[in-house]
Amino acid sequence: MVYDEQNVFSKILRGEIPVNSVYEDEYALAFEDINPQAPVHLLVIPKGSYVSLDDFTMKASEKEVAGFFMAVGQVAREAGLSESGYRILANHGNDANQEVPHFHVHIVGGRNVGKMISLKDN
Ligand code: 5GP
Repeated sequence: MVYDEQNVFSKILRGEIPVNSVYEDEYALAFEDINPQAPVHLLVIPKGSYVSLDDFTMKASEKEVAGFFMAVGQVAREAGLSESGYRILANHGNDANQEVPHFHVHIVGGRNVGKMISLKDN
């Protein structure tokens, strides 16, 4: 799995593309999705260069993995979603229609987001 340094989230990490960021620490950056699917739709990305969850869990250190997922929880709390609820989701590869090849977790909430994600064919 070769990481493409020109992907949009890599550019965001380098400060080449502006985002509405909501959280940052040494392991993660979180920002608003440009095309929100719910009243709250945030993306959390690791600081390191990983293509997807598959790459991340193969190559990242335990500290990076722990730091990243602690950040996901923190971002959701800071967004005020702990009580009402929220969904996290991560796409890996073609069958999941992953668009940006830098690992990211979506946090969606702010309304009832339904019982299941869409599993319909494209
Ligand atoms: P994926 O399908 O890869 O899981 O999701 C990629 C997400 O990144 C999409 O929800 C899309 O709206 C978001 N996205 C793509 N380009 C940009 C961008 O330049 N800025 C922001 N904030 N989000 C982006």
